Amino acid sequence: MASPTIKLNSGYDMPQVGFGLWKVDNAVCADTVYNAIKAGYRLFDGACDYGNEKECGEGVARAIKDGLVKREDLFIVSKLWQTFHDEDKVEPITRRQLADWQIDYFDLFLIHFPAALEYVDPSVRYPPGWFYDGKSEVRWSKTTLQQTWGAMEKLVDKGLARSIGVSNYQAQSVYDALIYARIKPATLQIEHHPYLQQPDLVSLAQTEGIVVTAYSSFGPTGFMELDMPRAKSVAPLMDSPVIKAVADKHKRTPAQVLLRWATQRGIAVIPKTSRPEVMAQNLDSTSFDLDSEDLAKIADMDLNIRFNKPTNYFSANKLY
Ligand code: NAD
Repeated sequence: MASPTIKLNSGYDMPQVGFGLWKVDNAVCADTVYNAIKAGYRLFDGACDYGNEKECGEGVARAIKDGLVKREDLFIVSKLWQTFHDEDKVEPITRRQLADWQIDYFDLFLIHFPAALEYVDPSVRYPPGWFYDGKSEVRWSKTTLQQTWGAMEKLVDKGLARSIGVSNYQAQSVYDALIYARIKPATLQIEHHPYLQQPDLVSLAQTEGIVVTAYSSFGPTGFMELDMPRAKSVAPLMDSPVIKAVADKHKRTPAQVLLRWATQRGIAVIPKTSRPEVMAQNLDSTSFDLDSEDLAKIADMDLNIRFNKPTNYFSANKLY
């Protein structure tokens, strides 16, 4: 089983169904990546902030050594954490992340969030997280997104990243990037599920030739693992009568319907699971089509509720 691919504006082909690596425990991460490669995944969505890039690299190295894949068969995505937005910090941290993955280029490297935090040296704490002191102090950096993007472009010039993109940008940041970018963002990775559809943002990106990648396609489910009250305040999407009825109609699972809802509209997905049978199910989610009636019913489910808000992680008042 293989995922279809989408052509990026950089000229490279990106698998449309990939594998997400957030909250994959270090103890099982290498095996999870290895098993996902065995199941047919070729795109892996990692990040410095996930704290498991070394283990991801071990899984990849083992799969290559065992002859399951070659490096060039894989599409490895990682992200620049906010404490590394300063122009002189971008390349050194990218090189460290590449070393953790045991590779010499990323297929795609993203700005994780459009907000710069003050630099924390990796020897002090890695990954650094949101807080300067590792506890509660948020210190912003004065580096602009334009400056950081310039440093990201140099990664492409030096062959450290084949494509570069952004994540968690809203429309105004996308408009700005389009003005100053020498290399246009190839992808925009955003929270996208029936409870948070962001149709105007998706349309803006797609009109500008920027491929949208949906994260947290299952909505609150991924955030239940964090015990987030906001996630518990709504019904799980997989239990929704609308999604279940569409799934029954097409003889698929609710998860497959949620993934197909995105991929059918030209959006890439990166679901996460540690269970091999579920990995296969999620990868096998592009071989059927929802009809216009299904799409209309799902469009009606938008609550405009966002789970992955920075303030959910660093508010002293625990807004989530
Ligand atoms: P997700 O939407 O993939 O949901 C994961 C949860 O759904 C897990 O509890 C898993 O066990 C369950 N699940 C997966 N497949 C299932 C199936 N077929 N049936 C039933 N349950 C199933 O959650 P996520 O981890 O939030 O998002 C996916 C990936 O997106 C992340 O791993 C990460 O790579 C990326 N992400 C990026 C950002 C960002 O800021 N750029 C933020 C969040 C997530």
